[in-house]
Amino acid sequence: MQPLVLYNTRTRSKEIFEPIEERHVRVYTCGPTVYAPQHIGNLRSQLFADLLKRALLAQGYRVTHVINITDVGHLTDDADAGEDKMERAAAERGTTAREIAEQYTDQWLRDRERVGCLSPEVLCKATEHIAEQISLIEVLEQKGLSYRIEDGIYFDISKFPRYTEFARLDLEAQVGGGRIGDVPGKRNSADFALWKFPASGTLRQQEWDSPWGRGFPGWHIECSAMSRKYLGNQFDIHSGGVDHIGVHHTNEIAQSESADDVHPWVRFWLHGEFLDLRGKKMSKSIGNLCVLDDLIDRGIAPLAFRYFSLQAHYRQQQTFTDEAIESAATGYDRLVAHAAELRAARGDCEVSKLEPLRERFWDAVRDDLNAPRALAVTWEAVRSEGLGAAERWALLREFDVFLGLDLQAAIPRSQIAESDPRIDALVAEREAARARRDFAESDRIRDVLAAEGIAIDDTPDGPRWRRG
Ligand code: AMP
Ligand code: ZN
Repeated sequence: MQPLVLYNTRTRSKEIFEPIEERHVRVYTCGPTVYAPQHIGNLRSQLFADLLKRALLAQGYRVTHVINITDVGHLTDDADAGEDKMERAAAERGTTAREIAEQYTDQWLRDRERVGCLSPEVLCKATEHIAEQISLIEVLEQKGLSYRIEDGIYFDISKFPRYTEFARLDLEAQVGGGRIGDVPGKRNSADFALWKFPASGTLRQQEWDSPWGRGFPGWHIECSAMSRKYLGNQFDIHSGGVDHIGVHHTNEIAQSESADDVHPWVRFWLHGEFLDLRGKKMSKSIGNLCVLDDLIDRGIAPLAFRYFSLQAHYRQQQTFTDEAIESAATGYDRLVAHAAELRAARGDCEVSKLEPLRERFWDAVRDDLNAPRALAVTWEAVRSEGLGAAERWALLREFDVFLGLDLQAAIPRSQIAESDPRIDALVAEREAARARRDFAESDRIRDVLAAEGIAIDDTPDGPRWRRG
């Protein structure tokens, strides 16, 4: 089998991927901060991680995929000076941070599943791993890498000489820039919180005892602590959005590499680009959101959004427009209609005839998960006149292992029965008439429906009706 090649942010180059442990790949993906609805931009980043996982599985690897849920400690300001997003949302809505976290974690899990993402082997919440985070901070403290100020316990980046390496940071140029907060007492502008104390006079919902006093963990320590617990001191791949390179991932690396004396802590770093809406990154803080339910309300299937995502490489920005999603929905529907027709096909399948397209499809996947190219090869397979129906179906079924478009079972829009209790009742009456062999009555009902422009298809799963 040809090797998988991935673009590694750490080396800024495409590299052949080999896992540390034979045949087993350990992957960590930074998950959502669950203080607001999870939008389709967040889903795009999950779909990218899902393609990575599917490509690894297709290469024959066993995969342990860990995704975290940030339910505490992510501040409105990356420089540790703002409010905790969870606490703020709870205060605004007059409810508990836990309830908000549960609501949006459930929504995120449901939407991930609806767009065909495989479940992670481990889903871990920051609030359920406070002890692990405290232990890791203790290691850093024992090594003399942290210091205490009024605001909390901070990591001293001057003790980690490689700090600027990963993101190619120019800290001098950033002084006074957006990244640098003004927390009094910080030794270096880019030092970041490991443990924070509640601001005096404020009552937080989420705080815990620690060797340093009551407080809550900084945002970055959760990923270092949880990946360490579930994947060990070094692992293969870490993924997340491009926004994480300069701060969150840089800080994770500083913590983990200095705590465990490892380098590189993670071999491959993969970053997904943004989904834009109206010229800006779709984001909770800007408020230009679209959630999956908005699309479903417009008659767009969740998997049509997956199809839309496959049309752009994960390292390209993708722009969300009405036209683009409608055209993807049509494209997906056409593909599903072909699949529905082909899956009924019987006949010979000459394996050697499949090879050229199979090779080109998997070459595209192995070339840094090139989904748009893989999708183009899929369409070539559908349209290939040199192949019989059974052969085309064999290809589609195989390609769907990566595409995840449910081509084995999805039904084209034109055949999906709408729901209308009156028509459902008439269709049921017709069924009953047929069962008692009263064909005059069943034909009469069919004519009544036909007059309204409703057709009935008798399928192995019973009758289905459709308009037109
Ligand atoms: P958040 O919950 O906003 O911290 O984001 C969770 C994950 O979704 C991070 O990896 C972000 O990089 C990613 N993300 C957020 N907004 C977008 C977007 N518009 N397009 C793609 N990924 C995004
Ligand atoms: Zn993270």
